[in-house]
Amino acid sequence: MLFGLHVSAAGGVQNCPKNAKSLGCETYQFFSRPPQGGPAPKLTISIVKQFKSQNKKYNFNKTYIHTPYFINFASDNNRIKYGSISVVREELERASLLDVTAVMTHLGSAKEQPEKAALKTTLASLKKVLTGYKGKSVFLIENSAGAGKTMGDTLEELAYLIKKLAGSPELKAQSSSFGICLDTCHAFATGYDLRNKKFLNEFIKQFDKKIDLKYLKLIHANDSQTKIGEHKDRHEHLGQGEIGLAGFEELVKNSKLKKVDMVAETPHDGRHIQDLKLLKQFRNK
Ligand SMILES: [Zn+2]
Ligand SMILES: [Zn+2]
Repeated sequence: MLFGLHVSAAGGVQNCPKNAKSLGCETYQFFSRPPQGGPAPKLTISIVKQFKSQNKKYNFNKTYIHTPYFINFASDNNRIKYGSISVVREELERASLLDVTAVMTHLGSAKEQPEKAALKTTLASLKKVLTGYKGKSVFLIENSAGAGKTMGDTLEELAYLIKKLAGSPELKAQSSSFGICLDTCHAFATGYDLRNKKFLNEFIKQFDKKIDLKYLKLIHANDSQTKIGEHKDRHEHLGQGEIGLAGFEELVKNSKLKKVDMVAETPHDGRHIQDLKLLKQFRNK
């Protein structure tokens, strides 16, 4: 279990390892392209080399990429849907080139469509992302806060997507190439209580029963500014939101999550360094 933060890639991805080290990270996450859209900066041979050597220098064996925010696999606008598929596939290929462990993405929203149909469209898009993919970087679906009609907020929706991918004949040889990134703020906003040991254990049990814990590859450790079930995606520093410190302490101590890394995506106002320290303290307790 490694702990980290989302770090800046300003000036190029080769700057990430140093940025991450200066914040005290053991692992880290970054954007390899502008999160709001626009073309991806080219990964020249020199940049790739620098990125890898800096990771070695600062002892980072595992790193993660977050895809841009505009991704919508369920969109009924083909330009958006196919654009999303190609950008995410490109991120997986770029991540593989950089030896990045995994890439996580939000799924998007059903908007005007019925949710069932949108979930099917999402599945078809995910299959397109993975078909023919031979890279090493793992593809992670992130759970959503369920605002509007965002896809993948409940364990049932995530289970549907993962099981269909796992059972898909064209992806047979790739069952280790995909999984889930669980965001605690989003899960709490969806209505899953994580505030104490009992609730957290129950949630992990349900995750295992419905999806299988082997698919859980990363946790976004974020507290929530808003109350449980409000479907708002508002990250807060650990212990300063509605989930509270007890929830995060139990998350770190949970024996079933020992192999899962945690990245805090809390506001970069200085207090994010404290979030990382807290996670480390819980581990040593
Ligand atoms: Zn997240
Ligand atoms: Zn979020």
